[in-house]
Amino acid sequence: MLGKLCKLLRMIGVDCAYSNEGMAILVNARKEGRVILTCNSRLRHRENVFFIEASQPASQLHEVVNTHGLWDEIMPFTRCVICNEKLESVARQDVKGKVPFYTYNNFNEYARCPHCSRIYWKGSHYKKMMQEIEEMLDRKIGDS
Ligand SMILES: [Zn+2]
Repeated sequence: MLGKLCKLLRMIGVDCAYSNEGMAILVNARKEGRVILTCNSRLRHRENVFFIEASQPASQLHEVVNTHGLWDEIMPFTRCVICNEKLESVARQDVKGKVPFYTYNNFNEYARCPHCSRIYWKGSHYKKMMQEIEEMLDRKIGDS
């Protein structure tokens, strides 16, 4: 249910694992030293659990970043939104043929996920997402 929030957190570079495991999540989160974000009221009063009140992803993101003091941890464009892995920078010549021709001709900076090999660049989609996230957080977080 918090899939969208998880994706947003990864977009701003915050380490976020996603799980549908229900109660088993309590054990794994403790092992990995994670805080659990949930909207499952059965988990509400457990240790290390942060119960999300907001229903809109934008409000959820704001709530999580504020409550957990994540402002300093925000590093957009550093994490794969699919796998949560940290991205590695990759040279332009190494993405030739793997990104659209227009992209290759117009962007010099690329990053790759070491897990799924997805390639990221700061194109129009990235800029639009950053703008949306900044509106959600009501604060400038981009690097440009
Ligand atoms: Zn990935």
